[in-house]
Amino acid sequence: LFVTFEGGEGAGKSTQIRLLAEKLKALGHTVVTSREPGGSPSAEALRHVLLSGAAEPFGVEMEAILFAAARNDHVEALLRPALLRGEIVLCDRFMDSSRVYQGTTGDLSPALIDRLQAIAVNGVVPDLTIILDLPAKLGLARAKRRAGELGEVAPDRFEKEKIAIHQRRREAFLAIAKAEPERCRVVEATGGIEEIAEAIFNAVSPVLAK
Ligand code: C5P
Repeated sequence: LFVTFEGGEGAGKSTQIRLLAEKLKALGHTVVTSREPGGSPSAEALRHVLLSGAAEPFGVEMEAILFAAARNDHVEALLRPALLRGEIVLCDRFMDSSRVYQGTTGDLSPALIDRLQAIAVNGVVPDLTIILDLPAKLGLARAKRRAGELGEVAPDRFEKEKIAIHQRRREAFLAIAKAEPERCRVVEATGGIEEIAEAIFNAVSPVLAK
């Protein structure tokens, strides 16, 4: 079972993945958690290049290709083998992030994004995608607080952008959910951690039982 978590900054994806993984393990499942960009050694190296801004001079199209290269390595090195072993895979961001970040707010055409995704995922698509939804302003405030707590000197380059961009991304994630209701579940992420965790578990349980 392949479950991906998507949403804007500060939506709480990593916390919720950790809580869901603990719950599923307690129920006896073997669970693998991962994140993008990254998740395998080569993809983590590309993550560093992408998030540091080192690839920015290449332009958004080439960056999208690097994101796709990272994803393909992650798929073949970690995700596909785990899924073939019958394990539950929980992944922080996946192909929908490319659609939203490089597509919607990177202004790349859906045709190019789709083509890159097809090569990158090579048939490994999520059974379920949890979209954590919250107002852009709240998400950014949370992301900032987290960066402060972690003692990060500066937010990564993607977090520095204007609120309007984050709003467009929120709408784009919601549009994906609307277009693919079979795969996607929108979970409201404004409430408390436990409340959100319960809503996520309720979305995952029926798919788990299938
Ligand atoms: O922790 P988080 O998942 O939010 O960090 C990943 C960063 O990479 C985010 O700042 C996000 O904006 C960026 N990203 C991106 N395109 C993707 C995936 C992630 O710009 N396809």
